[in-house]
Amino acid sequence: MGFSEFFGNFRKKQSSPKEAPSHWVKCSKCQSLMYFKEIEHLFNVCPKCGFHMRITALERINLLADQDSFVEFDSSLAPIDPLKFVDKKSYKKRISEAIKNTGRTSAVISGGCSINGINTQLVVFDFKFMGGSLGSVEGEKIVRAISRAIKNEEGLVIVSASGGARMQESTFALLQMSKTSAALTKLSDAGLPFISVLTDPTMGGVSASFAWLGDIIITEPGSLIGFAGQRVIKQTIGADLPQGFQRAEFLLEHGLIDMIIQRNKMKDCISDMLIFFNKNCAKVDFQDDQELEMQA
Ligand SMILES: [Zn+2]
Repeated sequence: MGFSEFFGNFRKKQSSPKEAPSHWVKCSKCQSLMYFKEIEHLFNVCPKCGFHMRITALERINLLADQDSFVEFDSSLAPIDPLKFVDKKSYKKRISEAIKNTGRTSAVISGGCSINGINTQLVVFDFKFMGGSLGSVEGEKIVRAISRAIKNEEGLVIVSASGGARMQESTFALLQMSKTSAALTKLSDAGLPFISVLTDPTMGGVSASFAWLGDIIITEPGSLIGFAGQRVIKQTIGADLPQGFQRAEFLLEHGLIDMIIQRNKMKDCISDMLIFFNKNCAKVDFQDDQELEMQA
């Protein structure tokens, strides 16, 4: 191979700055610079300070579902624009841009999978799709996942990452809050568990509806969780907010969530919860209680 051929091949392998993937990741908490492979096997948790970086919906599914077990449902459901809404851009344009950027038609991926061998319905929010906002398609996909959980007698896990209800759908989006909450009542009546995992960030209409209705509410360290943004609250009440306000640790201390779990332990924690709240296990306990009563 001549020098010019070698140089030609070398040049071909170079990507333009626009195409070049970033192989270096900077921790936004401790500012450490790390090679992406270094943190990939740590589930994107900084090895220096333990900061949990945001991960994609697909990475989340890979983290929680057993290998090759996830089967997606309702992937073709796509939003319409009933209000012909236009702000800085039209809603139609925003949808088409989000579809182009993510390859998906909604901010929710839903399906069935097994988690450490336990069949479960799993719903994961994709924050990259319009800030994980809750619109009519997202609400419908959640309700369908709940219906499948009831039909199959399985538990439900929803991993939220959302800025709230989708303002471009107005009341259609707000209605999803009551629609999902009502469906969860049916899941509860069927004696099936709902594990709600709130990840960074979970805000607005999502935190104000189904996300807070979990039988167990789990978060990751440092996650931002709340309803209104801190600036709005500060302006409304006219006072400084306490340190750590709306962060997972603050919420745990004040009894709003049940536990904070490190990302590498999340899968085992969820499967333990699904076993603990499984209604068949509850029946065994109930029978034991009956026997004890009879013996007494
Ligand atoms: Zn760090």
